[in-house]
Amino acid sequence: MPGFELFDHQERDEVLAVMEKGFTFRYNFDAMRHGIWKAREMEQMLRDKLQVKHAHLVSSGTTALHTALACSGIGAGDEVIVPPFTFVATVEAVLMAGAIPVFAEIDDTLCLSPEGIEAAITPRTKAVNVVHMCGGMARMDEIKAICDRHGLVLIEDACQATGATYKGRALGTIGDVGALSFDSVKTISCGEGGAVLTNNDDLYEKIHMFTDHGHDHIGTDRGAEGHPIMGTNYRISELHAAVGVAQLKKLDRILAIQRRHKAKLKAALSSFGEVTLRHLPDPAGDNAGFVSFMLPNEDRARAVAQALNSKIGGVFYWWDNNWHYLRNWSHIKQLEAPNPLPIHTMAHPDYAQVQLPQSDALISRTLSILISLKWTEADIQARIDAFDEVLR
Ligand SMILES: *Cc1c(COP(=O)(O)O)cnc(C)c1O
Repeated sequence: MPGFELFDHQERDEVLAVMEKGFTFRYNFDAMRHGIWKAREMEQMLRDKLQVKHAHLVSSGTTALHTALACSGIGAGDEVIVPPFTFVATVEAVLMAGAIPVFAEIDDTLCLSPEGIEAAITPRTKAVNVVHMCGGMARMDEIKAICDRHGLVLIEDACQATGATYKGRALGTIGDVGALSFDSVKTISCGEGGAVLTNNDDLYEKIHMFTDHGHDHIGTDRGAEGHPIMGTNYRISELHAAVGVAQLKKLDRILAIQRRHKAKLKAALSSFGEVTLRHLPDPAGDNAGFVSFMLPNEDRARAVAQALNSKIGGVFYWWDNNWHYLRNWSHIKQLEAPNPLPIHTMAHPDYAQVQLPQSDALISRTLSILISLKWTEADIQARIDAFDEVLR
């Protein structure tokens, strides 16, 4: 998954262009910047590449998610359905928006299941935040149909799935609004950064204003701009966008390498009777940043993870990991925060008591291997040999 593995003179040249001729701020300063607008350039590239009407760069995937919620009108007391298997940022964004996360079951796609979403809907549900984990995708047709039927906003956290598609459409562009992350370890990297994607003009107007203190971005005098709404500062800098411009040009190459490497590991893994590969509703659209598979039970999964990690490294056993599954999120279970949050003042689920037996049964058996862009044929063979030794 990590685009940083392909950093070279191209990223450096883009950053240097900003330092030597441009300016670090993404708006205004027209006279100083000699026509260099890296954030605008990357946004145009994203719109073309992902075939989406609006792409707005922000400071991170987390701030993209908060922006998606806030600008969709999701706030105090609203329930947002989220998966228990995600990076904690998905849940943080809901809490920071003042809303209430409601956990629902995932299925063998490793994403929210349509059935799980349906079972979690209450009269207070306003949105579903489906997370396309590990480069793959959720069952989007069914999930979209449920959201349409119940009048729910469909948010796609595609932070781990830049460049992935479902039936030909980019993940993050299928629901009402999507979020991408370009942090240091994602498919493409700005160092830190993210994007909010939408085809909705009204939503986009709120997005660019909310992420820049409510500035309406009309005219060339920033001090004279109007402020139709309150907002905050979730801007990306030109330096980060410059790195992203170079990385986005490499996205097709990154996806091609990942898909080639993953196909070899998948072929090897599928020969072992005890291995079940993660279900991909549209295999052709997989971003292939990870290969994920299930073993028969928790003990076997933990043992295989340990044995493989000692030989090849790069194997994630999410069940024991502190950051990607609800089981180990003690801070979220207790709603530990430095300040009182809206959720502390309202009725909310007891997060220490959430029961998700189907998700537990899946994640306790699931391993994911990060696909490196730098592997040689020998590196891939070393992994296949390790599978032969550990899985039989
Ligand atoms: C990385 C990630 C985020 C947050 O992105 P940042 O840019 O690190 O803030 C959100 N959701 C998921 C699923 C992620 O993997």
